Amino acid sequence: MTAVSVRMPAVQVPDLRDFTLPELVEWIAGLGEPRYRAGQIFRWLWKRQVDRFEAMTDLPARCRQLLEAQACVSRVAAVAVQSSRDGTRKLLLGLSDGERIEAVLIPEGSRLTACISSQAGCAMGCGFCLTATMNLHRNLRPAEIAGQLVALQSALGPGERVTHIVFMGMGEPLANYAATEKALRILIAKEGLAFSPRRITVSTVGVIPGIRRLARAGLGVNLAVSLVATTDEVRNRLMPINRRYSLRELLQTCREFPLPPRRRMTFEYVLMADVNDTSEDAERLLGLLKGIPCKVNLIPLNEAPEIPFRRPSRQRIEAFQKILQRAGTIATIRESRGQDISAACGMLAVAATPLDTQLSIPYTPQCGVEQLGSSLGS
Ligand code: SF4
Repeated sequence: MTAVSVRMPAVQVPDLRDFTLPELVEWIAGLGEPRYRAGQIFRWLWKRQVDRFEAMTDLPARCRQLLEAQACVSRVAAVAVQSSRDGTRKLLLGLSDGERIEAVLIPEGSRLTACISSQAGCAMGCGFCLTATMNLHRNLRPAEIAGQLVALQSALGPGERVTHIVFMGMGEPLANYAATEKALRILIAKEGLAFSPRRITVSTVGVIPGIRRLARAGLGVNLAVSLVATTDEVRNRLMPINRRYSLRELLQTCREFPLPPRRRMTFEYVLMADVNDTSEDAERLLGLLKGIPCKVNLIPLNEAPEIPFRRPSRQRIEAFQKILQRAGTIATIRESRGQDISAACGMLAVAATPLDTQLSIPYTPQCGVEQLGSSLGS
């Protein structure tokens, strides 16, 4: 794996969108303000999505002045949007230090799924993923993970509402565990974005300590594991994380993950021709998943010039699915959405994004940032 230096943005004063509600309660009490102010501020930040203290009209003027001096509120800004023929929209988002990430809106019947990022770039080096070619630029802060929802919501049309959230954008969420957990707490807080944890899925390549921490956190969110191979030999080659945590250890950890009643874990399996798509692979997969309440998402590889693998034939994909289904395993073929705009699974990589549509969402400099637009779209 390539060594990278991880920079964090220089925030001079606390960004209130980084705080979970209990953290905000403690912080506000430390300023000598009544604790209930935290709930008022949290609702302004996340429910009403206001990022200017002067607009928080139920706070006394003295408190607003104190906040101006002691804190800031960052905003994830939608800089460009691309729309796919299938209705998928990919947003290029700018962060307060000029870093760029992507998030995707995927409509499907009555569902509108937001696919969000947890890191700018990724260090995991999966051989079938374009994001891996960026390497890791830096971890996202809680404000930047949960803030993607605010940015996505500002790009919705009339009557549209995000119904589901998946952590399947750029980055490995469990490699940025602390920020991911805080963002989840903000997303599900009643005073925050109030999403049901049942509608949130965290996807991992198998960072075992992170899976265990998520289990202990007891948030009730769904877990998806990107499995992709059925032997350590092949998985070591495709996913360097497997050299650290073997398939056996990973599946044991999945078995121990506390699933709420009637809930299933998801296993993602990116199908690549002559790599992991044989009937022996399908049989081995069944053996590996034995005893885990789960469903399998089969994702035919999204080919790209930078990726040295090919998508299997339709016949192969369906034959693989049938073997799983005949054994009673729920297996769906997930045709990736937004392929024409590189928004599909494993295709998010900022450098490869042509900016052909500018959104006119104004960006308000806060948290010490003067110019965002200048580094974007150039
Ligand atoms: S598949 Fe996920 S974890 Fe692997 S390199 Fe791509 S973004 Fe990172």
